[in-house]
Amino acid sequence: MNDVLVIVAPAVVKKGDFAAIGFAQQAAERTGGAVDVLLLGPNASAAAERLQGCGARTLYAASPVGVEDYTAEAYAASIAVFFDGREDRLIVAATSSQTREVFPRLAALTDRPVTSDVVAIEELDESSVSFTRAVFVGNLLCTETLEGPSAIVTCRLSEFEPVKLVPSVSSPIEAVELSGEFAHAGKRYVSLEQAASERPDLKEADIIVSVGRGTKGPDEGIPLAEELADALGAALGGTRAVVDAGWLPNEFQVGQTGKIVAPKLYIAIGLSGAIQHLAGMRNAKNIVAINKDQEAPIFEVADLGLIADLFQAVPELIAAVRSFQNAST
Ligand code: FAD
Repeated sequence: MNDVLVIVAPAVVKKGDFAAIGFAQQAAERTGGAVDVLLLGPNASAAAERLQGCGARTLYAASPVGVEDYTAEAYAASIAVFFDGREDRLIVAATSSQTREVFPRLAALTDRPVTSDVVAIEELDESSVSFTRAVFVGNLLCTETLEGPSAIVTCRLSEFEPVKLVPSVSSPIEAVELSGEFAHAGKRYVSLEQAASERPDLKEADIIVSVGRGTKGPDEGIPLAEELADALGAALGGTRAVVDAGWLPNEFQVGQTGKIVAPKLYIAIGLSGAIQHLAGMRNAKNIVAINKDQEAPIFEVADLGLIADLFQAVPELIAAVRSFQNAST
């Protein structure tokens, strides 16, 4: 009852999975147990290879019939079968749109308590565990205690140091057969439509260039931000004002009603830093803000603030990045 099990499902290894393993290692240090990882999905064994060096005791790979395409019901049912006979103290993953669907179902199927958006472990013993968790999109923190010998929990990826892979350390990959009727009788996967982009995915990117209404639109400041993003190999994001104006598609929105991101560098250009926007990016490691209004709230969270007209500052920044890149090649 000391071990911590990390769930990677669907088995496409993402930034959040490294943070979840980092979180699991913290928990296992307290329990004195080991960290195992279950990867679930059609390419589970190949995905397990990507986690070699993470220090797990075992990487379990499962590709049962019925989980070829993602549905929350099939994933929860097959993970529940994997649990049978195991006695993990915690079952963990990073908070994501999938874990929001799968983990409550898993909790119901396996009769375990569940919580989400954990930012710190407070107390952990054999019979109860207390976490600090973010509520109201991170504007409040609360302490929550889960009673019982085993609990299910998701962590905020921005709050836990991602595990660093050590190539010399390898974990055995064990293929697991899971049998059962996992596909849901009344629900089936039809298709996934994803916007194609050459830039990195907003949630996975190390650098994000994010634009606000100050850019004045797709014919003015947004092409400048795109050029900066491309020079830095960054993703492009924006405020709801920009998305509502139709300057960027919905999936670019960062904030309370958009995506929650935690890049290493967030460059905020011509955006004010409304509380709903900060809710989505305040955990970026470094925040750089360019705004001509020195009273703009974004400066309260910025590590580096430039009070300037973006139409002057951004071209200078692009030129500086290019010249640095040319000098170092
Ligand atoms: P503005 O607030 O208008 O800011 C524009 C900034 O650009 C100003 O600070 C100005 O000084 C600066 N500027 C102008 N010209 C220049 C220039 N030439 N050079 C430099 N700087 C310049 N917003 C989100 O972003 N994400 C959300 O998820 C979200 N969810 C919401 C949910 C609810 C329920 C509600 C009510 C609101 C939500 N909002 C969200 C909207 C939010 O409240 C703000 O309205 C929005 O974030 C403002 O966008 P903005 O910063 O682009 O625009």
